[in-house]
Formats: sequence, C-alpha cells, structure tokens
Amino acid sequence: MKRSRGSVLVVGGGIGGLSTAVALRQAEYDVTVVEIRADLHSSVAGVGIIQPVNALRALDAIGCAEACLAAGYATTAWGRMLDVEGNPLREMPGARIPGSGLPCMNGLSRPRLHHVLTDRARETGAVLEYGKTFHSLADGPDGVAVALTDGTTRTYDHVVGADGVRSRTRPYVLAEELKPVYLGQSAFRLDIPREPEIDRIVLQHGPDGLVGYVPIGPDTAYLFLNVTWEEGRRLEQDKAAAELRERLAPFGGLTARVRDTHVTDDRARDIVFRPEEWLIAPAPWHRGRIVLVGDAVHAVTPHLGQGAAQAIEDGVVLAECLAAHDAYEDAFRAYADRRHDRCALVVESSVAIGAYEMDPSAHPGFDHAGLTQRVLEEMVRPL
Ligand SMILES: Cc1cc2nc3c(=O)[nH]c(=O)nc-3n(C[C@H](O)[C@H](O)[C@H](O)COP(=O)(O)OP(=O)(O)OC[C@H]3O[C@@H](n4cnc5c(N)ncnc54)[C@H](O)[C@@H]3O)c2cc1C
Repeated sequence: MKRSRGSVLVVGGGIGGLSTAVALRQAEYDVTVVEIRADLHSSVAGVGIIQPVNALRALDAIGCAEACLAAGYATTAWGRMLDVEGNPLREMPGARIPGSGLPCMNGLSRPRLHHVLTDRARETGAVLEYGKTFHSLADGPDGVAVALTDGTTRTYDHVVGADGVRSRTRPYVLAEELKPVYLGQSAFRLDIPREPEIDRIVLQHGPDGLVGYVPIGPDTAYLFLNVTWEEGRRLEQDKAAAELRERLAPFGGLTARVRDTHVTDDRARDIVFRPEEWLIAPAPWHRGRIVLVGDAVHAVTPHLGQGAAQAIEDGVVLAECLAAHDAYEDAFRAYADRRHDRCALVVESSVAIGAYEMDPSAHPGFDHAGLTQRVLEEMVRPL
C-alpha cells in the first residue's frame, strides 16, 4: 500500500473537481469527491468543449490527454474568421507546445470528457459520491469537520471547493460580496453534423454577436452563438430554435446553411442556453485548510475556450504545490501565486472580447484574432 500524505474532500465533480482529484491521488493523497447531482451524466452541462493545447498538456499530466484525443477531433490550426456573408477574413493559427506532439486544439463532447475524467479518477482510487454535498464546514487545527447532507460528519485534512460559478464553498474562503458578474451576453449551443469546412474553430462576426462552430468528432460539431441578452430574461425552451433562427437571420454562407437545415423547431429541446459570467478573485485562494479551484475562484466566459483548461491546470498546480511544500499554507500560497495572473489574463481578455462583440463600434481597432493569438501564445508557456 502506498503511504498517504493526507485526506482531501473535493466538493464538486465537474471538470475542475475530477482533475484535481486525479492530480491529488497521483500526489498520494486520499481523495473523496462529493457531487451534488445524482450521477455522472447529470453533472454535465452543455454541448462540447474546446481543449486548447494547454488543456491537453494539463490533461497529459493526469493521464487523460490520450483518451481525450481519441474521443475528440484534433485540429491543425486554431481557427478561421469569416465575415457576415461567410467570406474568409483571417486565419487564426493558434499556438503549439514545441516537442509535445500535442495538437493546438482538440474539440470534445462534454459527456465524453466527463467519462474520461471519471474513469481516470476511479482508476487512481478517488472515491466519488453522487447526490451529496455539505451543510457546513468547520475549519480547526486538526482538520476540517464537514457536516454532510447524508447526516454524517467527517474530518478531512483539506477541502477543495470545486463547485463552480455558484460555489457554496467560496464564502468560507473569500469575502461574501465577491460574486460573479454577468457579462451582458448569453450563449446558445447546439450539436450539429460536422460540415467539412468545420475542421477548426470557425467564427463568423454578425451585427449583434458572434456565431462559431467547433468540431468535436469526425461527424459532429457544435454551433454557438454569443448574443447580447438582458440579465435574468428567460428563454422559453420551446421557442429556443425560433429565437436562434431569428438571431442567425443576418448571416450568409455556412451559417445560413446550418440555420436552414439544422436549427429546426424539433431541435428546440436540444439547445443549451447559458448566461456568461466572470469572476477573478484576488489571491490568496485559501483560508486555513480550505482552498478553491476552477470557476469557484475564476469564472471564465467562453470567448477563448479556456475556462475548463484553467480549471484542469489549477488541479495540476495545486497537487504539485502540495507535494513540494511541507506546510499546507505555504503550498496554498504558492498555488495562488502561480495561478492568479494567468487566470486573470484569460478572464480579462475573454471579457474584452465579449464587450467588443456586444458593441464593435465602441471598440474601434479592437483586434479579436490578434488578442486570441497573444493569449494562446502566453498559455503555452510552462505552467
Ligand atoms: C456557454 C459556455 C461555454 C463554455 N465553453 C468552454 C469551452 O469550450 N472550453 C473551455 O475550456 N471552457 C468553456 N467554458 C467554461 C467551462 O465550462 C468552465 O470554466 C468549467 O466547466 C469550470 O469547471 P469547474 O469544475 O470549476 O466548474 P463546473 O464545470 O461548473 O463544475 C462544478 C461541479 O460542482 C457541482 N456542484 C455545484 N455545487 C455543488 C455543491 N454545493 N456540492 C457538490 N457539488 C456541487 C456541479 O454540479 C458541477 O458538477 C464555457 C462556459 C460557458 C458558460
């Protein structure tokens, strides 16, 4: 039996929580994950996921890159930008990690990613408990006493809050007032059959938002549309296809074809509609023995496809820091020191792209493709 460095409860079995669980198991911690939803499938929101090369590097560190590449669609370039009519405007080369052999982007369906992460978490010995969360956390000198919704109280050396943008762990670490901010945009997403030209991310700028396509398998892609949307306004699911068609009406080329063929009323229930929110908490990202990862501490809007990548990187770096420091507070400080500025760059650049999409005339000279490339190049630097 391998020795254990300590026990960790991870709250949240999403992308960040499962990645952190694997990384901590590899660093010889005993790990339990509690996920509030009833099972693996119900914890997956959304259609597909963009995995930039830095996500693949972090997935490689936890033994998951190969399975993601096998289950997804790897591209030879980041993307291509089209005008509203569908004419090519600009190539987006993306960035690679020299010598890694990793592609600059892999597109994957979220359920497949969840299967890969869940299988790996189980294989490494993490315990996954579904339909469960905590009532309260009490941090003490000997550990965190966690009162769970199953009526038990357990004590762990550390608690990792990986419970997403609406984190209930966050107030145990950060000021109550620190809450995610609604960007002013929401996103439609829909699986479609992959057209041959969707062999990378394809972006088409329109008068009120941006439509994009991401390949997620040989035969599958997804469409997304970021639109300006009043905070709290509801979208009736039955009317989602009609609303999406209307928003896509000004577009020609690829989007016109997709709109007329695939955005049909019988697909209304398949459309995922999500608000875009952001948050970047100042360091430190821990209090006592409780530490935060992923959207709980830096919620990322989808404009650079980097939110999940950052959550996975958090898990890898957190485990490295815990392995490198004897005192957990030193480890947690080192973790946030290594992560904060990188996550801030992603959050702030994504927000800037969103602001531009909502009102291009207010941002003359804004270089969407140029900013994307700069961030991608920054992301390939060593973690
Ligand atoms: C429209 C949209 C598109 C996006 N597209 C991309 C993309 O293409 N590429 C990319 O990298 N990122 C993308 N992102 C961002 C990405 O989805 C998130 O950054 C990523 O999922 C964060 O992972 P996480 O584990 O921190 O949070 P989540 O994935 O939200 O996981 C949190 C988990 O915690 C569980 N949970 C919540 N509360 C509790 C509780 N109290 N107790 C126990 N469990 C709890 C939830 O059920 C969930 O399983 C997108 C985001 C949006 C909004």
